[in-house]
Amino acid sequence: MANVKAYAAPSATEPLGPHSIERRTPGAHDVAIEILYCGVCHSDIHQARNEWGGSVFPMVPGHEIVGRVTAVGDHVKNFKAGDLAGVGCLVDSCRHCSQCEAGEEQYCENGFVGTYNSIDKSGQPTYGGYSTHIVVDEQFTLKVSDKLDLKAVAPLLCAGITTYSPLRHWKVGPGQQVAVVGLGGLGHMAVKLAAAMGAEVTVISTSDNKETDAKRLGASHFVNSRKEESMQAVAGKFDFILNTVSAPNSYDRYMQLVRTNGAMVLVGAPPEPSAITGFNLIMRRKTLAGSLIGGIRETQEMLDFCAEHNIVSDVEIIPISKINEAYERVLKSDVKYRFVIDMASLKN
Ligand code: NAP
Ligand code: ZN
Ligand code: ZN
Repeated sequence: MANVKAYAAPSATEPLGPHSIERRTPGAHDVAIEILYCGVCHSDIHQARNEWGGSVFPMVPGHEIVGRVTAVGDHVKNFKAGDLAGVGCLVDSCRHCSQCEAGEEQYCENGFVGTYNSIDKSGQPTYGGYSTHIVVDEQFTLKVSDKLDLKAVAPLLCAGITTYSPLRHWKVGPGQQVAVVGLGGLGHMAVKLAAAMGAEVTVISTSDNKETDAKRLGASHFVNSRKEESMQAVAGKFDFILNTVSAPNSYDRYMQLVRTNGAMVLVGAPPEPSAITGFNLIMRRKTLAGSLIGGIRETQEMLDFCAEHNIVSDVEIIPISKINEAYERVLKSDVKYRFVIDMASLKN
């Protein structure tokens, strides 16, 4: 066991602050990683504030982890000390159900073990990436290219895979009209990835000041969702809409923009429900669906795709002492487009 520095939320109503946690001694299949950068996902805020219910405290959030391997267990085949490595939202699963066998561990029928706010197979709480070190089974550790800017790779481990997976599952590609609702951490990755897959991308945003960025990131069109006439102008236009909005929003309004046989997929996870009118789906055989992060195989595929296409996140680097301010700015949609913690700030 090693005692390491971390930042934790002591409860749902207190700010995050310095904390220390134990990391297990690496077992035969484990990879020990010194964390260099960790992204800040809106899910960290939902969970640290117990907005989804069932949070375990003290909580060390963080599931967009990149770092350097410091040691590996005797049976580890694919990593050695000195390698770069990534850890996303999953650190274990049952490994034998049909979903695990299909490489879709996020849908494990027996429940996956999350990187934080979860209980592992030994009954211990898991602690995430707002810390200096982590120990993870090789099967749940990702290979990271040294060709990309490492601090901008961190958000790929959640924002990247969460948007890549539905784009692939719904076979988004050339000739398709794709809309991304919400230009935040997930949204800006969705724009880059959908454009790289060959789709024509529209950003639908509540923030008029993001239009220039949307186009720089790869969108061809921008719609201000607060302007009814702009929304009407794109009614029935889209084959596929990815909804990344973190707060309750009108699914009916966005569903009207989907064409016959098209789909809107939710990745944004507001705590409160939103209504949907059945007729809005029935009349044009539309699909409303959801999608959860992505499995380890597909996460590696996404990282390799990003390395090949030179895709990383647009990041704002912060010291860990600024984490509570960063949360407030995320809540105001004031981040371009992902905060990433420089973990050197926790080591000093
Ligand atoms: P984020 O950076 O805060 O982005 C969310 C964006 O939603 C904002 O930038 C804003 O974009 C838009 N928005 C916020 N409030 C809105 C409102 N009231 N009405 C309309 N639009 C609004 O958050 P994120 O890290 O990308 O995460 C987004 C959501 O996805 C969170 O709920 C998170 O928990 C969830 N998530 C889900 C998965 C999954 O596996 N499904 C994985 C990761 C995260 P504009 O300024 O452009 O309007
Ligand atoms: Zn996340
Ligand atoms: Zn399973």
